Amino acid sequence: MQPVIALVGRPNVGKSTLFNRLTRTRDALVADLPGLTRDRQYGTGKLGGRSYLVVDTGGFEPEQKNGIVAEMARQTRQAIDEADAVIFVLDARGGLQIEDEEVASYLRRSGRPVFLAVNKAEGLGEQFPASDFHALGLGEPIPISAAHGQGMDELMEVVLGALPPEDAEPLPGEEEGPRIAVLGRPNVGKSTLVNRMLGEERVIVFDMPGTTRDSIYIPFERQGKRYVMIDTAGVRRRARVQGGIEKLSVIKTIKAIEDATVAILVLDARTEISEQDAHLAGMALQAGRALIIAVNKWDNLEQHQRDWIKTQLERRLPFLTYAPVHFISALHGTGVGDLYKSIDKLAAGSSRHFSTAQLNKILADALAAHQPPLVGGRRIKLRYVHQGGHNPITLVVHGTRMDELPEAYRRYLEATFRKALKLEGVTVRMVFKQGE
Ligand code: GDP
Ligand code: GDP
Repeated sequence: MQPVIALVGRPNVGKSTLFNRLTRTRDALVADLPGLTRDRQYGTGKLGGRSYLVVDTGGFEPEQKNGIVAEMARQTRQAIDEADAVIFVLDARGGLQIEDEEVASYLRRSGRPVFLAVNKAEGLGEQFPASDFHALGLGEPIPISAAHGQGMDELMEVVLGALPPEDAEPLPGEEEGPRIAVLGRPNVGKSTLVNRMLGEERVIVFDMPGTTRDSIYIPFERQGKRYVMIDTAGVRRRARVQGGIEKLSVIKTIKAIEDATVAILVLDARTEISEQDAHLAGMALQAGRALIIAVNKWDNLEQHQRDWIKTQLERRLPFLTYAPVHFISALHGTGVGDLYKSIDKLAAGSSRHFSTAQLNKILADALAAHQPPLVGGRRIKLRYVHQGGHNPITLVVHGTRMDELPEAYRRYLEATFRKALKLEGVTVRMVFKQGE
């Protein structure tokens, strides 16, 4: 389980700079979700083989007299609540400010482990004002320089070292069957669908060992096959908070996607497909997860409504050409059996292994059908291909001048492999490697 680490502090102390250091931004799972996270950023990082999720909370904007404003409170409180640890970023040069004290008092009450990263400490040496920051009563200040990349490993060693070891909450293993994440905006019918899928006759739900604060893994069996439902919708807890619409939690969503074998994106047939829907789909694809689209609330729709949502799908999610689409009614159970067929198919597809010989035969045929383009008068050469991994199926193509290979040709190859290997619906990640 990836720990979640929130960066908190007043503006200008260097949170964004630190965020960029701690995450390899280009690899970040998601940079930003419009409409949800205007000023929050999420990214993954790694230290000594252990990966973590970093959330940049934007900043406390103490514009109002009474200090921490409502906006910060709303944005940052959620991030702090969902975090396993907080890095409180301070400025060694600006010294301790009144706003820092306000942040500190909030953090003391949060009950989260807090670590003091005192930034801009490059070249300070003996002049590092440790005792000022020590006075916050939040532990030992750790000098860092985000801009110069100093103290990064030391900081993360302390932070990760204080968290429970990784294997404290083992994920259900692959042998327990595909892991299913049900994603979607609030109110599209996620809870109804999860309950329906688990509540079907002949579904046996097992007692679950791994109950965590953020999501719940529910192992179950249907028709002799095992699965694990990742309950992001908080179905089990929902019973107690009926009425209140749960806000979509980006962290929960990211974690669920990472843990999933197959993601089901639930859409509401009765509302417009929004930017949020597109982003959720994009997150699942970026993570390389097999994706199923479930258009819910299909019951009692007029023909024109059905046509309308189908047009919406084509217009708003044009990049989802290969994801299977199911029209379902979670409320009545219609189409739910077929969802399982897609889950089985995609889960099987995304864990397949292909021989290098088989892959190279397909590559040779693809090259014969359409040669790679000439760039600057010389033809780009693709030499061979092998499978680099599964879930997502990763195909590594070796060749010359790969950086000049046009996007259209990459897509052609991907589509050709997908077709030849019968990987409809499964994400295929193509990696193009420069050879000699
Ligand atoms: P944020 O508002 O907390 O996200 O802060 P930023 O990351 O945007 O940084 C604010 C300013 O501090 C920028 O001008 C950075 O270049 C500068 N800064 C960030 N880290 C360091 C550092 O380690 N040393 C110095 N001297 N400046 C830094
Ligand atoms: P969540 O916020 O995504 O978990 O959505 P819920 O499962 O709580 O459902 C939101 C609302 O949509 C509830 O009032 C459900 O009864 C309703 N709903 C869910 N599925 C269907 C469906 O298939 N058809 C219809 N008509 N309503 C549904």
